[in-house]
Amino acid sequence: MKKSRFGRFFGVLTALLWITAVAIIPLTTGEAEVTEYTVVVDAGHGGTDGGAVAEDGTIEKDLNLSIALRLQKKLEERGVRVIMTRTEDDDTDGLSGFHKRKDLEARTKIGNESGAQAYVSIHINASKSYKDQGFQVWYGTGSDKSESLATPICNRVRNAEICSRIRAVKKVPNTLYIFRSVTVPSVLIECGFLSNATDLYRLKQESFQNALCDALCDGILDYLSGIKAETIPSETKNPSAVNENR
Ligand SMILES: [Zn+2]
Repeated sequence: MKKSRFGRFFGVLTALLWITAVAIIPLTTGEAEVTEYTVVVDAGHGGTDGGAVAEDGTIEKDLNLSIALRLQKKLEERGVRVIMTRTEDDDTDGLSGFHKRKDLEARTKIGNESGAQAYVSIHINASKSYKDQGFQVWYGTGSDKSESLATPICNRVRNAEICSRIRAVKKVPNTLYIFRSVTVPSVLIECGFLSNATDLYRLKQESFQNALCDALCDGILDYLSGIKAETIPSETKNPSAVNENR
């Protein structure tokens, strides 16, 4: 059917409005500049593998998942695509029963096939000494860039002044299979100690989890912004990206 002159005018007007919206929105959202990046968030343990257990019965896997889901939300709100290794109380190997090695292999596979720029695993520490406390970032050895991811995360959490103590970033020992096998820049976050009463009290508070995830999110974004700055001159991979002119 032939369009009227008004119909054509309306069509052109609609197209112009869309083009204007697409051009303006990415420039006005500020922190959404990292949209093209992907982060894997790994909630440690799950299912039959509970991880550490506190004196009051709090199980590490549950706090890990709660914190990981909050981090997912905050990263997505800031324009980052997130891949979760798990979103419920289960391990990742798809088998029934406890198969630690298979579970770690599955998490590694998710990381290495993700195309992500960062792999962030959430854990809670435990010690035989109830005095041991504090937050620590461990970094993987599968990528040279892992330390560059660990450092801004540690700095942001230090600046937030929410933890009982900030321990220095630490290279993971070679015995930790997943962090020598994940080739994506990777960190393991020990959010505190389940075996310490002060840390345990904080870790169970929603307000602490939210503040911690704000700081973790800021640290991850610092790292992603650094990658962006490094790659801008040679960036030709996605010519249709909305921010190609910046
Ligand atoms: Zn753990």
